[in-house]
Amino acid sequence: MIRLFISDLHLSKERPAITRAFFRFMAEEAAGADELYILGDLFEAWIGDDDPETLARAVVAGLRKLSDGGTKLYFLHGNRDFLVGRRFARETGCTLLPDYHLISNGDQKILLCHGDTLCTEDKKYQRFRRKVRNPFYRWLLAHLPLRRRLKIAADWRARSLAANSNKPANIMDVTPAEVERQLAGRGARVLIHGHTHRPGVHRHGAGDRVVLGDWEKLGWFVRIEGETLDLIDFPIGVDPPKSGGDGGEKPAAEGGGTPSLREGISPAPTPPPQPPPTAAGDWLSSPRAQPREQSSATPTPPPPSPAKPSRRQASDEGDGGSQLSFDL
Ligand code: MN
Repeated sequence: MIRLFISDLHLSKERPAITRAFFRFMAEEAAGADELYILGDLFEAWIGDDDPETLARAVVAGLRKLSDGGTKLYFLHGNRDFLVGRRFARETGCTLLPDYHLISNGDQKILLCHGDTLCTEDKKYQRFRRKVRNPFYRWLLAHLPLRRRLKIAADWRARSLAANSNKPANIMDVTPAEVERQLAGRGARVLIHGHTHRPGVHRHGAGDRVVLGDWEKLGWFVRIEGETLDLIDFPIGVDPPKSGGDGGEKPAAEGGGTPSLREGISPAPTPPPQPPPTAAGDWLSSPRAQPREQSSATPTPPPPSPAKPSRRQASDEGDGGSQLSFDL
């Protein structure tokens, strides 16, 4: 049984390379897996299942193809796509999961969540989250005209961008005590989440925490087969520059420079690199960019202990990507 986990692709029409990488991931990895878990923020914004945009329709069709092919799909909401609803589930064939979801792997329990609920120090965001996740609010939102929802989404995003630029790093990351509480309270030994955009494996008292990366220069996924969990990254090709009409050097290089996933996966003697800070801020408070004070000199390790790739660190052939393994 092969299970794959992804999060934080932040698909948008502004970043076609990410969308291409996702379609390649579906064809080359997910189509061969038994289950694919999407742990939130698949989309940069999701304003409702009735979104007629080309990207939304293409992704829905792509996921449908995957589920028709026999891969079971699960979707857990992120802070950017919490309006993904029943129609999306019906159209793609996916199962919508609650904010925390336990799966069994042998006699182990693995806890899944997006990650935003673990950032309990970010009181402002948690207040906002409670408001927008309220069923009545969601119902109201869902019944607004598409155009209004687009404006609201843009407004949220602008406000989040402004708010996050001043938040210290520890507020933007998970609260270790909350991680312990969730792991212990739910009897899980492993937690998989995204949201913080700080990929790695962390050892906590109650268990291990595996953090997926956001897709930018690298794509990330977790693969569980039997007793082995791998955190894998692979390079994502750069979008060809938008040709202003001369079309000279790059004739129809659709996905040309992007290596296949399999070629990309390869060894890393060290834990996966921190994602490069992005200028783009975040909608609804995904802590995307590292705050400025931190970037200057001494890199202070995040509170929940430095990445401990733990029991086994595996690596194999190739270059350009990396893989971090441990036994469950
Ligand atoms: Mn998020």
